[in-house]
Amino acid sequence: MKNKKSLLALVAAAAIGMSLLTVLSISSAQNVQSSGVIETRSHVFTPVADGIYFITATGAVNLTSQSMLIEGLHDLLVVDSHVSPNAGLALLDSIKAVSNKPVRYLINTHYHFDHAHGNQVFPRDVEIIGSQYTREKLNGELGNVLEESTFISFTQGVPVQIERLRAQLEQSNDVHERASIQGQIAMHEAHLNSVAQIEPTPPNITVSDTMTIYQDVVGGGREIQLIHTGRGHTGGDVVVFLPHEKILYAGDLVGQNLIYMGDAYANEWADVLERIKALDFDILLSGHGPLVESRERIDAFQAYLRDLWAKTAELKRSGLSAEDAAQQIDMTNHSANYPQIRAAGADVRAIRRIYNLIE
Ligand SMILES: [Zn+2]
Repeated sequence: MKNKKSLLALVAAAAIGMSLLTVLSISSAQNVQSSGVIETRSHVFTPVADGIYFITATGAVNLTSQSMLIEGLHDLLVVDSHVSPNAGLALLDSIKAVSNKPVRYLINTHYHFDHAHGNQVFPRDVEIIGSQYTREKLNGELGNVLEESTFISFTQGVPVQIERLRAQLEQSNDVHERASIQGQIAMHEAHLNSVAQIEPTPPNITVSDTMTIYQDVVGGGREIQLIHTGRGHTGGDVVVFLPHEKILYAGDLVGQNLIYMGDAYANEWADVLERIKALDFDILLSGHGPLVESRERIDAFQAYLRDLWAKTAELKRSGLSAEDAAQQIDMTNHSANYPQIRAAGADVRAIRRIYNLIE
């Protein structure tokens, strides 16, 4: 794609806009900008190729993760459904600002709450496609995902956050600030209410290796490859690859920043990324954060994963508990790539996970 630089700038601006636009929760107007970006109350659709949109949040609704829309001649394909029925409904509603065609396929890149808990609001005739592992996680065969530490650890902090915002509201006399805080409280409350309504809904079609969908477009069939990469961020991730447009939607397997590892196979993930690097793409989209700016970001993440595994294994051998290891592990040699690493320490959920896998 020729204009990748300007696209990068555009998506970066949209990502920055996310935090500033929280205030705009009051506005519900749909806004088509000259760049082709379509904005609704809850969503920003940034075109990355003809009929293909990277979907990010305005901040008015808690979506927690991003998605992608691919428009064909007769129907639509959506990648990932966000964090709750409420967020999924907002997505379906926002899509109408882009196209009136029906959604035919919903792809789940993986089973995580923030990518698949909007599944239930998609119409019954929508085919949901994911890995067999994603199906078994969401249909309860492998336990109840709503009782897992991943879901609980990311959800239990929300009431505390609401209380904190209420305290801020008490302190504030500024009209605009009060409106912003009230908007955030409303967003978090709507999120919590919707989370209580979640009925995990599994894919009804599974990909065991690769699958190709040929979507009718003007002049032929658009090739949409779904590739099950093996175990990485979870026990079964699927990426969406458009070989002609050279676009890869990698879910949570790749990101511009570090990625949650509480359910990961960190030792296998780096090898899975080798398979990803072999794909011929120019644009790399992920479930969180801005466009991944270069292939070197994948190299950096592979180095981090391998180092995290080796250092954790060493601390475990020395007899430390996972909790102590999480405090002591020193990953600051990666801070040039990940500026958020400023001192020793790593996410205890990642370290516990590696301990479990070693055992
Ligand atoms: Zn995830």
